[in-house]
Amino acid sequence: MAKQKLEYIWLDGTEPTQSLRSKTKIVDSFSGEVSDLDNWSFDGSSTNQAEGGSSDCILKPVFVIPDPQRNNAWLVMCEVLTADGTPHPTNGRATIEDDDNDFWFGFEQEYFLWDPETNKPLGFPANGYPAPQGPYYCSVGASNAFGREIVEEHLDVCLEAGLNVEGINAEVAAGQWEFQIFAKGAKEAGDQIWVARYLLERIGESHGVAINWHCKPLGQLDWNGSGMHANFSNSLLRTANSKETFHRVCEAFRPVVAEHIAVYGADNDQRLTGKHETASIHDFSYGVSDRGASIRIPLYAVQKGWSGYLEDRRPNSAADPYKVAARIIKTVKPVK
Ligand code: ADP
Ligand code: MN
Ligand code: MN
Ligand code: MN
Repeated sequence: MAKQKLEYIWLDGTEPTQSLRSKTKIVDSFSGEVSDLDNWSFDGSSTNQAEGGSSDCILKPVFVIPDPQRNNAWLVMCEVLTADGTPHPTNGRATIEDDDNDFWFGFEQEYFLWDPETNKPLGFPANGYPAPQGPYYCSVGASNAFGREIVEEHLDVCLEAGLNVEGINAEVAAGQWEFQIFAKGAKEAGDQIWVARYLLERIGESHGVAINWHCKPLGQLDWNGSGMHANFSNSLLRTANSKETFHRVCEAFRPVVAEHIAVYGADNDQRLTGKHETASIHDFSYGVSDRGASIRIPLYAVQKGWSGYLEDRRPNSAADPYKVAARIIKTVKPVK
C-alpha cells in the first residue's frame, strides 16, 4: 500500500483575523477514520500561539476528508491545544456547546478573487474602476464574470472531497463570489467552511490569484462588502409553528449585540453601514424577508407556518465560523 499524506490544518494566532496553516505528515497507512489519527505538534512561537521558551502546541485531529488534489492524501482539520492538553485560547471550536448536534448551520461565504499584481479584484483594470455595480451578480459573460475557472475548480474539488456545498453564485461586486455550505452540527459546519477556505486558497495559488477575505476590501466606495450570513436552526425553531417563538429567539439577541459583533469578524463597522443590504452596526432589527435587517426571518419559515430557520446577516466574510456558531448557540440555546 502507498504511503499516505496527511495534511494537518489549523488556525494560527494572527490578530485580529486568524489564518490557516498546514503541514504534511507521511504515514504508512490510514483507515480514513479521524479516531485513528495521532496528535501532532508545531512551533507555536512562529504562529503567534506561544513564547519561544516553551513553544510546542498540539494539533488534535477533529475532521478528516480525502484530499482530491493530491494522490493518497487526506485533509485533516485540527484543534490547537496547549502543551498541557487544554484548548488553546485561539481554539474557537472548543467553545461550541452543541454536543447533540441540535444546531444546523448554513453559512454563505462571500469573498473576492484578488489580483496580487494590481492589488485589486479580478475584473478591475490596473487604473480606475470597471462599470458600476449592477451587472455582476449572478452574471455570465467575459465582461461581467471574472475568475469562473477558479470558482468551478473549487466547487468540483469540494464536492469530490465530500463537503456539503449547496450552491455558488457570482456576487454584487466585480470579482466577488459566494459559496454556501450546510451541516447538521455546529462543529461540522465550521470544519467544512474552514476546509473549503483552505481548498480555495490552494486553488488560488495555482492560478496566481489571492483570496481576499476582508469584509470591505474596496473601502467606502460604492462596492458591496463581503459577508458570511449565518443561517441557523435548532429543534425549537424547526418545529416552532409559532410567530411568537421566532420573535422570542430574535429578542434574545437584542441585549447581546456587542458580544455577537465581537466575534462577527474584524472591521465590521466598515461593512455594517446601513447601505449595501446591511443593517447599521449600531442597530438591532429583525423582519420577514428584510435584507436590511440584522436578522432576516426567511419568507420560507413564514410559509411553513412559522417553522424553520433564521439568518443572522451580520457575520462577515473573515469571521471564524466556529466562534460565530458558538455565540449564536449561547444566545439561542436557553430560549424555550
Ligand atoms: P440568500 O442568499 O437568499 O440569503 P442562500 O440560498 O445563499 O440564501 O443561503 C441560504 C442558506 O440557508 C443555505 O446555506 C441553507 O443551507 C441554509 N438553510 C436552509 N435551511 C436551514 C435550516 N433549517 N437550518 C439552518 N440553515 C438552513
Ligand atoms: Mn446567498
Ligand atoms: Mn450573498
Ligand atoms: Mn443570505
